[in-house]
Amino acid sequence: MKKLALHWKILLGMLFGVIVGVLMTTFDGGKELIQDWIKPFGKIFINSLKLIAIPLILAALIKGVSDLKDISKLSKMGGRTIGIYLTTTVIAVSIGLLLVNLVNPGNSISEDTRTEMVGNYADNTTKYKETAMAQKEAGPLKPLEDLVPENIFSSATSNRNMLQVIFFAIFFGIGLILIPEEKGKTVKHFFDGFNEVILKMVDLIMLAAPYGVFALLAALVVESPSMDLFKALGWYSITVVFGLAIMVVIYTTLVFVFTKKRPKFFINGISPAQLLGFSTSSSAATLPVTMERVTEHLGVEEEVASFVLPIGATINMDGTSLYQAVAAVFIAQAFGMDLDFSTQLGIIATATLASIGSAAVPGAGMVMLVGVLGYAGIPEAGLALIFAVDRPLDMCRTVINVTGDAAVSMLVAKSVDKLGEPHVKNWDDNYKG
Ligand code: ASP
Repeated sequence: MKKLALHWKILLGMLFGVIVGVLMTTFDGGKELIQDWIKPFGKIFINSLKLIAIPLILAALIKGVSDLKDISKLSKMGGRTIGIYLTTTVIAVSIGLLLVNLVNPGNSISEDTRTEMVGNYADNTTKYKETAMAQKEAGPLKPLEDLVPENIFSSATSNRNMLQVIFFAIFFGIGLILIPEEKGKTVKHFFDGFNEVILKMVDLIMLAAPYGVFALLAALVVESPSMDLFKALGWYSITVVFGLAIMVVIYTTLVFVFTKKRPKFFINGISPAQLLGFSTSSSAATLPVTMERVTEHLGVEEEVASFVLPIGATINMDGTSLYQAVAAVFIAQAFGMDLDFSTQLGIIATATLASIGSAAVPGAGMVMLVGVLGYAGIPEAGLALIFAVDRPLDMCRTVINVTGDAAVSMLVAKSVDKLGEPHVKNWDDNYKG
């Protein structure tokens, strides 16, 4: 086991998780056994990752921004980061729209299946609609207003407030650049060291990753709905997954064209983060690992990674935006609606914004989908149609969200001459016990 690369160990963990999960569903009490004795370890694993997300963002961004030593460099990097993130998101939505219009998965849903699903899942979707409604009632500038917290300590108490923590950290970093070096030295050293400790904690958590994903997948399998529903939604799921696969090709191509790094190098470097994204369905929980892989295995210098990745984890969700476009048109098709070209163009804009607004947690994409449906006049009851397969698709789209962030960090790093060689650190490099 020791010689295996981390991604193989994680894959094995996932595979065993699925096998054990399937076996356990075959006898009475198996499901409860997994829920009582295995599932908690998955939760502990995810929690340990989430636990370090906010401290990591704080330390990494303050260090990253202050390392730049120059505000104009920061605005240059900021502009590029946002620009490239927006471009990849628009590409993703457009691919989603193109595919769903070609495959027409909604046409394969019969009137009976539709009525049955809407009936069965109506209750489950209410929660999503209510959350979305609360967001809709706020004014247009509310997201901007929310960016600036009134109290950083209360913001830092919830992983949902990552953008506020990012805002504070960048602001603090700018302050640090602007004071005399002599005065800022101690603060800077503190955050440098803090950042190093957090990254070491990531190494330690990753030692448990194969077992963590085992527990997560075993629990997911015993709790998943029956296969019949998957069949009814087969074409829809295939369309989403195929679109997501195209995004991988786009990322590897972009990375190759702009940085000359081969697809194998990129995928090998980022794969443990992708597998964790898949197992946890949360780009926020995966962020610490993405950060470690991008800096140590892909050669992106820390000052770029620590700026680009936390922002990406919260605003760049290409997988989510692609899924939202496919889901919206799929539901429209299933309800026999014809969406004209301008409505579809509008979906590009709304899905892009919705993915920016989606939190980096499981199921967030579905909440924001309500807004896209509302814009295009598609019945929100249609959410019930896609509910059954949302979790597996969430797992897949999170992989793309994470991959997109990593790819963009390489592009930004290259553009500011901060892409170097990998320098892998082991968890016990400095420990001679
Ligand atoms: N689970 C996704 C993420 O964390 C968001 C979503 O699409 O629901 O990246």
